[in-house]
Amino acid sequence: MDSSSAYRALPSVDAVLNDPGVAAILDRHGRERVTAVARQALAEVRSAIGAGEPAPDRAALVAQIGSRLEAEHSTNLRPLFNLTGTVLHTNLGRALLAEEAVEAAVAAMRSALALEFDLSSGRRGERDSHLRGLLCELTGAEDATLVNNNAAAVLIALNTLGEGREAIVSRGELIEIGGAFRMPDIMARAGVRLVEVGTTNRTHPKDYRGAIRPETALILKVHTSNYRIEGFTAEVAGKDLAAIAREAGVPLLNDLGSGTLADLSRYGLAKEPTVREVVAEGADLVTFSGDKLLGGPQAGFIVGRRDLIAAINRNPMKRALRVDKLRIAAMDATLRLYLNPERLAERLPTLRLLARPLASVEAAAARLLLPVAALMKGRGVSVELCRCASQIGSGALPTETIPSAGLRLAVAGGKELEELAGALRELPRPILGHIREGALILDLRCLEDEAAFLESLSALPPLDPSPEAAA
Ligand SMILES: *Cc1c(COP(=O)(O)O)cnc(C)c1O
Repeated sequence: MDSSSAYRALPSVDAVLNDPGVAAILDRHGRERVTAVARQALAEVRSAIGAGEPAPDRAALVAQIGSRLEAEHSTNLRPLFNLTGTVLHTNLGRALLAEEAVEAAVAAMRSALALEFDLSSGRRGERDSHLRGLLCELTGAEDATLVNNNAAAVLIALNTLGEGREAIVSRGELIEIGGAFRMPDIMARAGVRLVEVGTTNRTHPKDYRGAIRPETALILKVHTSNYRIEGFTAEVAGKDLAAIAREAGVPLLNDLGSGTLADLSRYGLAKEPTVREVVAEGADLVTFSGDKLLGGPQAGFIVGRRDLIAAINRNPMKRALRVDKLRIAAMDATLRLYLNPERLAERLPTLRLLARPLASVEAAAARLLLPVAALMKGRGVSVELCRCASQIGSGALPTETIPSAGLRLAVAGGKELEELAGALRELPRPILGHIREGALILDLRCLEDEAAFLESLSALPPLDPSPEAAA
């Protein structure tokens, strides 16, 4: 066919829209989008014909329009398999919520609820009231409030206690968490002057005492959640710092970061200080995250002295940092699970995955070895069982790892390895592992739905780039 007859054979946009094969596409994506994509596809075909290429037949054209619209429609926020070995992965959304929390959030999405309404009196109520009682019970604190995340909790607590005055912090605790949260910057934004004391590795009681003056508004202690200073070190324990703060008549704010409500050693993990212990040590306010070890939705908690919490609640920042009904509902359901510690590890996914016995992960790897090897057949990928080490992530117990197991996918070279990892990321339900020593490791600690994993993997296209894809 010469190019002029190829042009003539092309359908009009209207003809494409009236093609019986397009009806379902129209129904799904709407006339406006389908028309735009059909126009664009036809324009591209015309220029391809101009370049001497053959015209596609009508069915191929319709299929191409359909797959373009599908690609446009598919979101990057689709569920994926986190086989990175980092259980609380900040870039992958941290904690998975318990079913109870999911149900509570869904109900809150669908229906009106007494968010700021007191059902017994019929009067206006408070948003925080739903969680306050639970938080006080679980932490032993006098009062509690919550905001958008722990960064917000630190910001509003610092601003409320110390605006225009000074906060004393050890040089060993001036943390940076993931780039955007650096303690000196947060302090500056809170309007608080930072007074650094001690040295990177050693800070003593006399350092804090020597820095106290009339301008001192608070002492800040920060949990070094994503690093450890080891060797010749000294820090002032929370209990001693509380005594120093009391002596000076200023509050002690302890930013715990992950802040667990449960004693993790009970579940076979290393010990992190619990919020209850830190409150009992005498911190006047404690801040911690809702979506790290606690295993709930994103939120930041502030618990402690009633008068200080009241002052925080009066701060106009509170309104700007408040939490919406979905998260309050999900958090309420999450905190209730803590009332029954015996069933906690089974119901709370974060804890279930962290406490999952090595034998259970190894058994999963053994079950998946042959099916995965079969799916990889003919692609030049070898599959072996391997041992690996999971991490908690999100700045909890940064130097601890949890023995784990998985599959090791090896290919011919570095380029092929990148291609394999890339293809797994492009799956309808992406699979994310981590590259170590020239292989892609899939840590199976966080894999609970093996059938869905195999189904997703079976959609892997051929790995060798086809000539037109390479062009
Ligand atoms: C994680 C962390 C924060 C920030 O908490 P987000 O919930 O991520 O806002 C602040 N301080 C410490 C010590 C942390 O570990």
